Amino acid sequence: MTKVTNLIVGCGLTGMVLAERLASIRQEDVLIIDRRDHIGGNIYDYKDKNNEITVHQYGPHVFHTNNRQVWEYLSRFTEWHRFMYRVKAVIDGIEVNIPFNLDSLHKVFPKQMAEKLESKLIEKFGFNKKVPILELRQSKDPDLEFLAEYVYQKVFLGYTVKQWGVKPEDLDPSVSGRIPVYISRDDRYFQDKYQGIPAEGYTAMADKIISHPLIKVRLKTDFREIREQIDCERLFFTGAIDEYFDYELGRLPYRSLDIVFKTYDKEYLQSGPQLNFPENYDYTRSVEYKYYLDEHSSRTILSYEYPCPYEEGKNERYYPIPEEKNQKLFDAYREKATRLKNVYFAGRLGDYKYYNMDQTVERALNLFEEVK
Ligand code: FAD
Ligand code: UDP
Repeated sequence: MTKVTNLIVGCGLTGMVLAERLASIRQEDVLIIDRRDHIGGNIYDYKDKNNEITVHQYGPHVFHTNNRQVWEYLSRFTEWHRFMYRVKAVIDGIEVNIPFNLDSLHKVFPKQMAEKLESKLIEKFGFNKKVPILELRQSKDPDLEFLAEYVYQKVFLGYTVKQWGVKPEDLDPSVSGRIPVYISRDDRYFQDKYQGIPAEGYTAMADKIISHPLIKVRLKTDFREIREQIDCERLFFTGAIDEYFDYELGRLPYRSLDIVFKTYDKEYLQSGPQLNFPENYDYTRSVEYKYYLDEHSSRTILSYEYPCPYEEGKNERYYPIPEEKNQKLFDAYREKATRLKNVYFAGRLGDYKYYNMDQTVERALNLFEEVK
């Protein structure tokens, strides 16, 4: 029997931040286990075999937050490559800014029509306002109704059906609301105050977070196989909550991705780091990684994301699916969890929440305070 004060299941951002706090503030020993063969969870990145381009194994990750505490906390473990993310979607063969903004409007419509739509948008919603597509679709003005239908069809419908298997209106509005129509010329994908990518990559940042001597990490170790062999005072579980309870109440669904990487003997392939394909192809987006850290090479590496349902043993749980029936099932698991002593669930899988990285860090910092 191994004895530890804190056992953390999952060496993703949530588990690592909890470990760091417990070790450096409480001076307690921590064992982190992960069934994968590397640290970092889904933020794991590595240099390709020619050591030229940093690639994100689990899909593109750009850090962004308005939370100064989270930014300052992570800045203890990394320098940042400051970077404002810009994304284009290919609509009828034309690359337009996403979020769809006033410049996108002028790119796809004739001048007079674009000017009319622009004035109507400003009049109705105000300049510099963000309008979720599902809200824009409720417009009664025939011109705005036309515009809403256009953006819905060309930007959201195809992409969302590929990504989630359902239409935007059949998901929680917060999902399509992540990328609202922006009545502005701001062409940044995120408008957060702090944005960037760890200058040496996410894995190097992860390595620093868990470098405290009181933290031990055991990889290629599944909780289900060792749960009887470890005696701990506290357990933090950042894996899937339904799996923890052996699916007693049923399975929580997740979306997954088949991420295909391709190397090209070309300096650059795309006009920028990310292209979205709402209408064409079976993948949702392609990402050219050398743009992220401004790396130079005669080759280039891209990833293509093909969404699919999560299937145990076959692929990874990438996205909880924000729908009412899933939330109800999660709440039932959560209720069971509150009856356990000294067992805490957190993270994108433990909380079954569509967290961005900063929300994950915030959740871990708050949980640490609660436990304290
Ligand atoms: P994870 O990183 O999933 O870590 C959980 C860990 O637990 C995993 O390593 C897993 O192997 C391990 N585990 C699970 N069960 C067990 C078990 N039984 N035994 C042992 N180990 C176990 N956020 C942003 O802010 N910006 C972005 O640009 C962005 N892009 C994203 C793109 C994609 C494709 C995806 C999927 C997510 C993206 N995110 C992004 C979100 C970000 O990845 C998450 O917020 C964050 O990584 C979640 O950290 P976590 O620790 O909660 O979970
Ligand atoms: N979305 C879309 N078209 C786009 C970009 C986003 O329909 O060009 C919708 C889609 O439903 C997607 C959601 O907005 O799943 C959130 O997009 P985001 O880029 O935040 O997704 P993530 O990076 O988390 O996969």
